[in-house]
Amino acid sequence: MHNHTKRVNGVDYIIVNTLANPRKQKNECEMCGKIGLLQCPTCRVTYYCCPDHALIDHLGIHQNICLLLKEIRTPSTAMGSERDRLKREHQKEKIVLTIIETSKREAMIHLVSNQFEQAMAAALQAQRNSIQLFGSDRVELVPAYLLLAEASMGLESYEQAESYLAKARYNVLEHPDCQNSLRSRLHRAWGRLMLVTGRIDEAREELAEDVYYSSLDHGPEHIDTTAGYFHLANSFRLTNQDIIAATIYDKVINIWHAFLAESLRRILEKSQQRAMRKGEKTKDGNHPEHKEESDEFDELLEDTQVTEVIGTITRIYQFRQATTGDNSVETTRALHCLGLLNIYAGNGEDAATQLSVTMENYIQLKGEDSEEVNRVRKEMESYL
Ligand SMILES: [Zn+2]
Ligand SMILES: [Zn+2]
Repeated sequence: MHNHTKRVNGVDYIIVNTLANPRKQKNECEMCGKIGLLQCPTCRVTYYCCPDHALIDHLGIHQNICLLLKEIRTPSTAMGSERDRLKREHQKEKIVLTIIETSKREAMIHLVSNQFEQAMAAALQAQRNSIQLFGSDRVELVPAYLLLAEASMGLESYEQAESYLAKARYNVLEHPDCQNSLRSRLHRAWGRLMLVTGRIDEAREELAEDVYYSSLDHGPEHIDTTAGYFHLANSFRLTNQDIIAATIYDKVINIWHAFLAESLRRILEKSQQRAMRKGEKTKDGNHPEHKEESDEFDELLEDTQVTEVIGTITRIYQFRQATTGDNSVETTRALHCLGLLNIYAGNGEDAATQLSVTMENYIQLKGEDSEEVNRVRKEMESYL
């Protein structure tokens, strides 16, 4: 067989013979909907208009879902009873759900890595499959629209971002029972779009709504509210109101500081308990039952969340360096927070450097035997 192929980044795509292709069977580019001229050689159900779109989609999402797409897009030739058919339908729905979850996760990963074209490919896949599974006016589509809007903003396509956010807002308005966390994310996305397009007053209104809705679930001092506060503070820097910005940044630092200190303490305590239980088990052969209470501090953050927060705290730290100097209390507190965050993220070397500098600064600022110095010393002994 002399298949004509085109190699794109190590993958041999099949060149589609458009003349032999019957009219009724339209193969559209996965990325843009134009006529598909290249076919994925593995699944054979995905097409691209050009090598560029093949590459972006491959890296963005297709490599993760190629075989899943093959399963749902290849027409079934199996015969059988109505019951078999329903069973196949049910199986297919489960696969579509897996594709949606995978696409949302990959889009987030690309967004925090500033790979916006790839994020767009993954978000498009989340949107397409969410519409297929849920229908086009459902609240389940909102996460996909938010990802599409974020990717568009990253690519500086602000009109496109606005149209995705308008769709998201429409779907939320149609569903008064929509979760507060989703409402807060929608307002945050609007707020950020307003900020980058210079509509500062509208941005502040949206970000205040973001903080309001995220507070409804867990109160205003919860880590979920900090993203809203952070962007709100940024809006005040744009109008040269650094003092207001600084106050709000400090709130972000305080909330994260409290969360990380408690969360790390519990992680350590749990690993010590596990080690003890192992000992007990070998003694009498039984696993003693320990009932554990669980709350926000026991829920581990997603990797993408940690990456995002490291970015946030780093920007606050840099703001503090620029406004109050390298060794001020405020700068040191931000650095301390960054150190704890890096312990949490498993970046031991960064954490060690940051906590050492934190300790030196606190010795200068507060004295050798101060509460701050003792706390950082204890943290270094326990976690590093
Ligand atoms: Zn295309
Ligand atoms: Zn494929």
